[in-house]
Amino acid sequence: MKLGKFSIGTGDRFSHQGEAQLRAIMKANKSGLDISPVWNKSNREHTYVHTLPGDVRIEADAAVAALGFKGKYFVDADHINLSNVAPFVESSDFFTLDVASFIGKESKAEDINAFVASCSKYMGNLVVPGIVHPLVVTESLLKTIAANFLAATEQASEIYKFLKSSKGEGNFITEVSMDEVETPQTPIELLFILKMLADKGVPAQTIAPKFTGRFNKGVDYTGDVTQFAKEFEEDVLVLDFAVKEFGLPEEIKLSIHSGSDKFSIYPVMAAVIKKYDKGLHLKTAGTTWLEEVIGLAVAGGEGLELAKQIYANSFNRKDELCAPYADVIDIDESKLPSVAEVNTWSSEKYANTLRHIPGHPDYNANFRQLIHVAYKVASEMGKTYTGLLEKYADVVGSCVEENIYERHLKRLFNL
Ligand SMILES: [Zn+2]
Repeated sequence: MKLGKFSIGTGDRFSHQGEAQLRAIMKANKSGLDISPVWNKSNREHTYVHTLPGDVRIEADAAVAALGFKGKYFVDADHINLSNVAPFVESSDFFTLDVASFIGKESKAEDINAFVASCSKYMGNLVVPGIVHPLVVTESLLKTIAANFLAATEQASEIYKFLKSSKGEGNFITEVSMDEVETPQTPIELLFILKMLADKGVPAQTIAPKFTGRFNKGVDYTGDVTQFAKEFEEDVLVLDFAVKEFGLPEEIKLSIHSGSDKFSIYPVMAAVIKKYDKGLHLKTAGTTWLEEVIGLAVAGGEGLELAKQIYANSFNRKDELCAPYADVIDIDESKLPSVAEVNTWSSEKYANTLRHIPGHPDYNANFRQLIHVAYKVASEMGKTYTGLLEKYADVVGSCVEENIYERHLKRLFNL
């Protein structure tokens, strides 16, 4: 099973927007792109909204059937590990093996030494075609990299073996993710991580490193764009080198766990993948939920009332809601509007505050991030929430579609 050159991961917390998401993708493909949808949902999301892994498959299949989509599509068990992968086995055909928590775990000295010895031909000044300066590979660097990443790649191998035995070799896509950590992996670290994966027979088709900068949920990138550009380009070149050198799947590509809406680095990624004719997997997630709230606000009436209620509940429970996401949000509480103020807002004011149009005078990234992490609030509303999604399906769906097509796909692929 092959993923294809371009793919986009879309999340859908409440399982109502599969068709709207697919419409955006089909629109892009009509403009000449060939991009595959991947519906992703992590175990954490399933827990919060009380859905089951099989629900994502049902939603994806239904959307594809309803719209007569003929391309490839996938269902991603996002950020799984050995302890929670089992319920995803049947319904998923894409697995994101999250081994971040194994980074830095101790490995046996003999394993570290064996890895270092296996890299002897790369020691010294290693020329990676395309990278301006040779990479300086020393024994002590290799030891440090092995000490940091051998256990994580070993874990990837364990999960892969489990999947191979339960689903059969070649029947699923393997992604390895190490993005949910503080410290970015450098291109040279990525190179040797890829060697470890190749050594252990993990046929990763995508790899999600942690890049430099902050990838906060639902808002733009913050960090040094020039540094990101350099790192991203070097990572692409390292992948190319790793394929030839270590025998990884030829189609292996970077997976960007974007946290959605990293608009300021989209042009950077676009330029690099075009320059080298490479593929990309862009994982987005929670912004479909935000578009639902925007759609409800735009719909007015009961929809706007519910959107205000969601804000009120989120505001009153912000500590609880933000805690699990503390590392990936930056909310300046002094810039959050009061509940009383929001209750006076029009549809337009509410939607413009939440919708991610950088530079729009009403846009408030603090408001947006708070709603982003507050999907639990809507989940608790149960049918009251999903009932209005159904009542206002047209307006909500068009917000979801417009967001993915206009703000993401058009920017990333110059459509
Ligand atoms: Zn991630």
